[in-house]
Amino acid sequence: MSATYNFCAGPAMLPQAVMEKAQSELLDWNGLGTSVMEISHRSKEFIALTEQAEIDLRELMSIPSNYHVLFMHGGGRGQFSAVVNNFLGNNGKALYLVDGSWSSAAVDEAKKLAGETQIDTLNIIEKNGATSRVSIPNLKELDQDYRYLHYCPNETVDGIEIFDELDSPWPIVADMSSNIMSREIDVSRYGLIYAGAQKNIGPSGLSIVIVKDELLQLPQLPQSSIMDYRLGVKHGSMYNTPPTFAWYLAAEVFRWLKASGGVAEVQKTNERKADTLYQFIDSCDFYENRVAFENRSMMNVTFYLKDEALNDEFIKLAKAAGFVALKGHRSVGGMRASIYNAMPLEGVEKLVEFMADFADKNK
Ligand code: PMP
Repeated sequence: MSATYNFCAGPAMLPQAVMEKAQSELLDWNGLGTSVMEISHRSKEFIALTEQAEIDLRELMSIPSNYHVLFMHGGGRGQFSAVVNNFLGNNGKALYLVDGSWSSAAVDEAKKLAGETQIDTLNIIEKNGATSRVSIPNLKELDQDYRYLHYCPNETVDGIEIFDELDSPWPIVADMSSNIMSREIDVSRYGLIYAGAQKNIGPSGLSIVIVKDELLQLPQLPQSSIMDYRLGVKHGSMYNTPPTFAWYLAAEVFRWLKASGGVAEVQKTNERKADTLYQFIDSCDFYENRVAFENRSMMNVTFYLKDEALNDEFIKLAKAAGFVALKGHRSVGGMRASIYNAMPLEGVEKLVEFMADFADKNK
């Protein structure tokens, strides 16, 4: 492990073992004498890679057989529009729950494409002083016929996570860009799950879509063919040339995750990492977290220095000590430590040591 710990929210650090393997086979993949990014996506070697990637992802997430898995272009935001164009048609309506920056951005995109009247929104954040808490009303009491309910179970910018599975009368569309495979979930409770790859999967640009077969019958809007789920399914995610190197790295991350014991095992480590950091923040009156206990993100730990005048000094010294990308998103300020699957527990423990030391010296 190098001396730098990268807490970037995304593109985020990838497992060291995966990066070393990619490096070792960069110029000669699979004995072909060429790199994986220089071969046809339709070659039998690459097709074998994609088949194995899907098998591994299905196993890791226990994806039922009536769900399709797509490897698509366009990251997380690409799916903001794809969901609308694939499911809403001219007159369908959808409900969007808003719990932070990304769910709000999804609403903006949906309204742009479908029009205001097709998109209903529900703010599910309650503020108590500076503290944010998620509060979801009984959705079954809303007398509406929505094609889907969209929500973001982990708000990357705000450090807010919804751990309970939703009880929804409509198919659930979930943006899991920043918490996919961080903990076990029951895929059968969702209509569609999507995730930009650059946190727990691989390089940016790629996105993973897991979609229930029956949703593909919904009326579509005219759209770009490469974002059409039905065409994606029909062509095995190869309607056009896919981002092959990103797909290869994703396949390697899946393999690494399986070798690490799968999602259940990684979840245990993630829980320890998050507990270690939150417990320290709570125990030290130099720092504070502003999210209700039950909604604190396991992947994106946001925190503030009580004396914000020390922010720049904190960032500077952290960087010099090897802890990079701790600055919070510009829209919310403060700090953020993103601790995705690839971040070892040791990285979090060392960060806590640094934070304790910084607090001691600046009290
Ligand atoms: N949704 C969430 C939850 C995200 O964290 C992000 C990116 N940080 C996005 C969507 C947008 O992803 P992209 O930049 O790949 O479009």
